[in-house]
Amino acid sequence: MIKITLPDGSVREYAKGTTALQIALSISEGLARNVLAAKVNGEVWDATRAIHADSKVVLLTMNDVEGKSTLWHSSAHLMAEALEAIYPGTKFGIGPPIENGFYYDIDLGGKTISQDDFKKIEDKMLELARQGNEYKRSEVSKADAIQYFKEKADEYKLDLLEGLEDGNITFYQQGNFTDLCRGPHIPNTSFIKAVKLMNVAGAYWRGDEKNKMLTRVYAITFTKQKDLTDYLVLLEEAKKRDHRKLGKELELFAFSEKVGMGLPLWLPKGAALRERLIQFLQKQQLKNGYLPVATPHIGNKNLYITSGHYEKYGADSFQPIRTPHEGEEFFLKPMNCPHHCEIYKTSPRSYKDLPIRFAEFGTVYRYEQAGELHGLTRVRGFTQDDAHLFCRPDQVKEEFCKVIDLVLYVFKALDFNDFTAQISLRDPENKTKYIGSDENWALAEAAIIESSAEKGLKTVVELGEAAFYGPKLDFMVKDAIGRKWQLGTIQVDYNLPERFELEYTGSDNMKHRPVMIHRAPFGSLERFIAVLIEHCAGKFPLWLTPDQISVLPISEKYNDYAKKVLELLNNYDIRGLVDDRNEKIGKKIRDTELQKIPYMLIVGEKEEADNMVSVRKQGEGDLGSFSIQDFANIINTEIENRFIK
Ligand SMILES: [Zn+2]
Ligand SMILES: [Zn+2]
Repeated sequence: MIKITLPDGSVREYAKGTTALQIALSISEGLARNVLAAKVNGEVWDATRAIHADSKVVLLTMNDVEGKSTLWHSSAHLMAEALEAIYPGTKFGIGPPIENGFYYDIDLGGKTISQDDFKKIEDKMLELARQGNEYKRSEVSKADAIQYFKEKADEYKLDLLEGLEDGNITFYQQGNFTDLCRGPHIPNTSFIKAVKLMNVAGAYWRGDEKNKMLTRVYAITFTKQKDLTDYLVLLEEAKKRDHRKLGKELELFAFSEKVGMGLPLWLPKGAALRERLIQFLQKQQLKNGYLPVATPHIGNKNLYITSGHYEKYGADSFQPIRTPHEGEEFFLKPMNCPHHCEIYKTSPRSYKDLPIRFAEFGTVYRYEQAGELHGLTRVRGFTQDDAHLFCRPDQVKEEFCKVIDLVLYVFKALDFNDFTAQISLRDPENKTKYIGSDENWALAEAAIIESSAEKGLKTVVELGEAAFYGPKLDFMVKDAIGRKWQLGTIQVDYNLPERFELEYTGSDNMKHRPVMIHRAPFGSLERFIAVLIEHCAGKFPLWLTPDQISVLPISEKYNDYAKKVLELLNNYDIRGLVDDRNEKIGKKIRDTELQKIPYMLIVGEKEEADNMVSVRKQGEGDLGSFSIQDFANIINTEIENRFIK
């Protein structure tokens, strides 16, 4: 018998050679129907693979990332089988799972696939899936593997085989299709119940433009039809919320090929919104004892050699800026931390001076591959709401508590109400991988765990996920349509204080190293605004939105009164515009709704005579007539209420 430890800590005994599927079956039949693969001692295995020793086993379903990717990877084999049946002679490159679904790169030998062909491929896949064919694993010699694909004349698999070692090669076969693959896979094809081809695109073999252009077929599958339906609804909703589309419609930001890919241009409304976010955080930071600093966009190469960033980013990033001086090189800064370390060093520090909190909205530059760029979420230049806290080891917990408060304040102000936090600790079995003393790690890890608990955060703890230089706390928010985004991070660092030889004089009159904490509640303004746009579908909270009101005169006769109304409201710090176009009031209302402006003030003869405005609220309709001052109070109270804790 062997002992199997399940994630809840329970230990069960099974006969040697049991499989994850049998373990699932011993728990419940329903579970067994959903088990796609298993994590055995940290490694993902086929659910049907025999387990011969005491092990920790996690059963994987569609609720797990690895479960999903096993289904999708297996579905790529199924799609390949369908494609081969429909287009004999097709050659196959690679077919990996991706974040949502999978693709297969194929060479159709001159034939093409279009949207019109999707249905027949989907039908074939479902037909094959229903056969319930097992994914059979077999070990093959390199010579036999080469022979097999030579007969098939599949030069891509032969190319892949070249890089593999003999004795380490496995084939998987399901139905009539055999693929070169390491696995793991789902037990059989009947788990695949719903299929959707999403897209076709061109892709160079091995991503190299000197190679042949293959056809990349994207698809997604699910174990239930309903999951596919839900996914397609979500996709539709996500399309409507796409920040690239809304950013253009709301005139927030733009990109220009001439300026360069991945370098966002903030338009007046977007820049003002950005500025409001900055001021909002700055105000809170000042209350919390942060000291603003400002540093340049470039730094000498030596700075980044000291910090270690040169080693990390040097070759794969923007190349150095040279000067007329031989050998002098500057880099665009990839991080603000090295500059802040140098600011720390400008004067001697005592234990009484700590903690010191330097804050800067610092713009950094990192070279991302063109194919990786995406709207504002993946850019080459972005501004971090960065701060570095230099403290004594015994102050880490208090600082963590304060930073968590700040992050929660930000989330509340922006309606991110559903979030979790991940605590990343070091791997206790591999302590040598990490820099910093055991004592300090223990202190910092306890500080993160305790402060998260005190603040009532929903947390997951991940062992071995800490950086080599310190443990961290990351916030994941769920947006309005259930997608998860990583925002905000708090990171302990023992490395940079060491590299920069930072010191303070302790109460013992001796020199000590401070602990450094990096933190950014937004992460970067670009990414944060992108997530925010998609979360609120462009309907920003009232305090942040570009235009809070639009004054709509019902005819040109009342344009002057409309302008007066706006001016008066400006005095109450309310911003907006007058729609004085020569259009019917109905059209003005519809257009204002499209611009997602929260309040419309309609003015005509009666309003002018009574010094009033008729108010319509976005999504709620008519609110009635108000004096200018009463309306100003409504808006300002609505904003204030949000910031009361
Ligand atoms: Zn495979
Ligand atoms: Zn930093």
